[in-house]
Amino acid sequence: MQPAYAEGLCPRMVYWISASGTILRAESENADLVRKEDGIFLQPFTTDHIIGRNLFEFIEGIEIHHLYQALMNKVLRTGVSITFPYRCDGPHVRREMIMSLSFENEMVRYESTLLREIPRERRIPAETNSATTLVAICSFCQRYRFPLTSTIWKDLDYLLLEADLPDKFDFSHGLCRACYQRFADDLK
Ligand SMILES: [Zn+2]
Repeated sequence: MQPAYAEGLCPRMVYWISASGTILRAESENADLVRKEDGIFLQPFTTDHIIGRNLFEFIEGIEIHHLYQALMNKVLRTGVSITFPYRCDGPHVRREMIMSLSFENEMVRYESTLLREIPRERRIPAETNSATTLVAICSFCQRYRFPLTSTIWKDLDYLLLEADLPDKFDFSHGLCRACYQRFADDLK
């Protein structure tokens, strides 16, 4: 994979988390390249307003909480690093990221790096936080399942082509089968 930016410009965020999930320290490089309005899922991220808060405030979905807790426990217990690809899309862009969890001074060091950004043809609408229709979305690969009775996970770009999608909907954050399997292997 080729980074979209010259190496020195690649937005990279590093944060250090205590065993209980408190964010103790954070550093970001060129994080301003990721514009605030580009985030459809994350709260605005600046390093100064997250220190002292709990990592799990920023992670949606009980399944995903449990997964991060399990990954952190494994890193803290074994000292082994865990690296995985994930997506952090915005309404206008697909963002391919890589996350690495490693053990450092009794803390878990999270490092997230943007590998590349690919513009979207159609804007993905933001969730409303008040809709009754839910679209299941995988927090890691950002493929979705709709309607909830469907078992097929599709790329987010196809969401707007769904004939039955109402104007207002919310995402239900979870884990698709493929990502579940990958993490199950990491956690062995
Ligand atoms: Zn997935």
